[in-house]
Amino acid sequence: MLADRLSVLRDRGTAHGAFRQALFDCSAIMAVEVARQLPVKEVEIETPLETARGLRLRDDVAVVPVLRAGLGMVEGFLRLLPDARVGHLGIQRDEADHEPVDYFERLPPGLPDARVYVLDPMLATGGSAIYALQRLKDAGARHLELVCLVASPEGVKAVQAVHDDVRIWTAAVDRQLDENAYIRPGLGDAGDRAFGT
Ligand code: URA
Repeated sequence: MLADRLSVLRDRGTAHGAFRQALFDCSAIMAVEVARQLPVKEVEIETPLETARGLRLRDDVAVVPVLRAGLGMVEGFLRLLPDARVGHLGIQRDEADHEPVDYFERLPPGLPDARVYVLDPMLATGGSAIYALQRLKDAGARHLELVCLVASPEGVKAVQAVHDDVRIWTAAVDRQLDENAYIRPGLGDAGDRAFGT
């Protein structure tokens, strides 16, 4: 259950191994919800006995984690969508002004026709998400969704103001951002907690 796993993530006593596991669990649950919306096509399948009608996913799927913390969500998505391609966007916040700075980008082919999920557990100021979505649009992506676990109201508003065509999925919208751009009550630094740094 998503709320239970989210509480494990929030708990300051959760060590990195259990944190990673809960991140995986939350992501796998979110993937089920998100994937319900994927377009399907009718197909005929030869079973060992006869022809059956069925459904397959219509489009390619790509997941694009925002490094580092987004990496913790990839496996949860691939469990449900094993054929998804995985792109990577390395974006970090400048410590002083909290503006996004990119340091790595490797994106899969076929973005214009793919369903693309940007993964980042924390939607804080929205700066990284806005930047990531813009990079993907510049690379041709047209069907973009943003999947988070904990969002701030400020972050949701900021992303919607720039990318009103992008659906945002989140397990929780918390109270506020603090002066250091952490989400309150939040769960701390998701990357540090997931990787034990
Ligand atoms: N990134 C995090 O990991 N945590 C926050 O609270 C905000 C941004």
